[in-house]
Amino acid sequence: MQDVIVLFGKPGAGKGTRLSEFLETTDRKYNILSVGNMLRQARADNTELGQKAAQYMDAGALVPDDIINGIVIEGIKASAEPIISDGFPRTVGQAQAMLDAGILPIVIDFQVEDDVVIQRARDRIVCENKKCGETYTTNDFKPPVVEGICDKCGCHLVRRPDDDPEVVANRLEVYRDQTLPVLEVMESYGVKVYTIDNSDSKKAKAQFAELMNG
Ligand code: AMP
Repeated sequence: MQDVIVLFGKPGAGKGTRLSEFLETTDRKYNILSVGNMLRQARADNTELGQKAAQYMDAGALVPDDIINGIVIEGIKASAEPIISDGFPRTVGQAQAMLDAGILPIVIDFQVEDDVVIQRARDRIVCENKKCGETYTTNDFKPPVVEGICDKCGCHLVRRPDDDPEVVANRLEVYRDQTLPVLEVMESYGVKVYTIDNSDSKKAKAQFAELMNG
């Protein structure tokens, strides 16, 4: 089993953005584990997993651990390349299952205030092609070259249903109640937790690159 790097932080903290920036600058091969993307894909393919996950996702709730843990932990163990995990573990139960399986990750905690998350969700558009999933903004941070069209694959850009303001508020509450306690569990096992202030994109990008390359 390879090294595992966990990207941690509120939903909408900008983990995915920092990650795609970094991946453009490196030749190293990583196995990117995004449970959110995996679930969205399962829904698009209308698999049993997708059908089970849908109701939780649309409410901004977490999909139960017994559905997530098996799939993700087996995937991590089988990986031949270092893993970057965006969105796992997100509960104490998931963290415990990961640690019990002998996976001791490095954690990078991306910190931003709630109002930044709310604003980013308001400004985010994503590629409707689930196999692409590229993210853009309606502000001038990362607009597509042609309005409403993905630069990478030419498909249409849409809003994510879980970027709806009410759903975002619920996701932030779920983060505080269920996800934040993961850090304490990790630290109690001696896992190193690095912190990046992700409200300053430029500084955060440099800090993330330094951690990943260091
Ligand atoms: P994300 O794209 O990471 O924000 O994830 C979108 C949705 O997928 C979340 O709101 C959850 O419903 C579900 N999800 C993603 N990761 C997990 C996880 N580790 N455990 C449970 N549900 C998850």
